[in-house]
Amino acid sequence: KFASREFKQEDTIIDVNGIKIGGGNFVVMAGPCSVENRDMLFETAKRVKEAGASILRGGAFKPRTSPYDFQGLGEEGLKYLKEAAIEYNMAVITEVMDARDIELIDKYADIFQVGARNMQNFTLLKELGKTDKPVMLKRGMAATVKDLLMAAEYIIASGNKNVILCERGIRTFETYTRNTVDINIIPSVKELSHLPIIIDSSHGTGRRSHVGPIALAGLVAGADGSMIEVHPSPENALSDGPQSLRFHEFDELMSKMKKYLEFE
Ligand code: PEP
Ligand code: MN
Repeated sequence: KFASREFKQEDTIIDVNGIKIGGGNFVVMAGPCSVENRDMLFETAKRVKEAGASILRGGAFKPRTSPYDFQGLGEEGLKYLKEAAIEYNMAVITEVMDARDIELIDKYADIFQVGARNMQNFTLLKELGKTDKPVMLKRGMAATVKDLLMAAEYIIASGNKNVILCERGIRTFETYTRNTVDINIIPSVKELSHLPIIIDSSHGTGRRSHVGPIALAGLVAGADGSMIEVHPSPENALSDGPQSLRFHEFDELMSKMKKYLEFE
């Protein structure tokens, strides 16, 4: 199997405009849950870049649980992402929900994100396999590590080797947190695969107070990077406010992560 350690012993290192993901580098992807407007995106991009994030995240097509909730700005959001990324010298990651949107998103994004709800959308995975752009595949909320690796296999078998995995929490009996981050999956993936894995403690916990501690746990456990939701004013966010960090909280987390990385 292409994603397995047996097939390839050395860690895969994915190059995104010079930013290296995998193989002992640690990257931070940060930004709002949704791109809400130009100003909030630019302000957030500026602040997360200053704090040390190299990849800008933001949803333009949002997989919301309710169809009556904010669904994202679509192409307008993609344009803001690209403009902000040029302004602050970052790369863009954004979600693709539907194979019909690949061509459009390809014009604006540096990394395609496949959301947890689409981890086993095999039509989407096969189509992404025909592009050569990196794909970050988020673990489905009821997927085992093997399910995740087989989903990655769909992309690679279709021709695209540039797959990044992401742990974003799974559903368990615990409801105090939104999801339960499975820290185990980090060493599991390192044993079973050569692909990089990112930890998303924002969706993984759903609680602002938990985002930092669990991001640090992921770093210590060997993750190749972290995805963090940041918002200028989380109480007014159109999505995922309760798990979004304020700028000063993100700054504090980044200094903690840097301390650990220097200590290594
Ligand atoms: C996201 O990162 O924007 C997102 C919707 O996450 P997930 O697919 O993990 O729920
Ligand atoms: Mn979100």
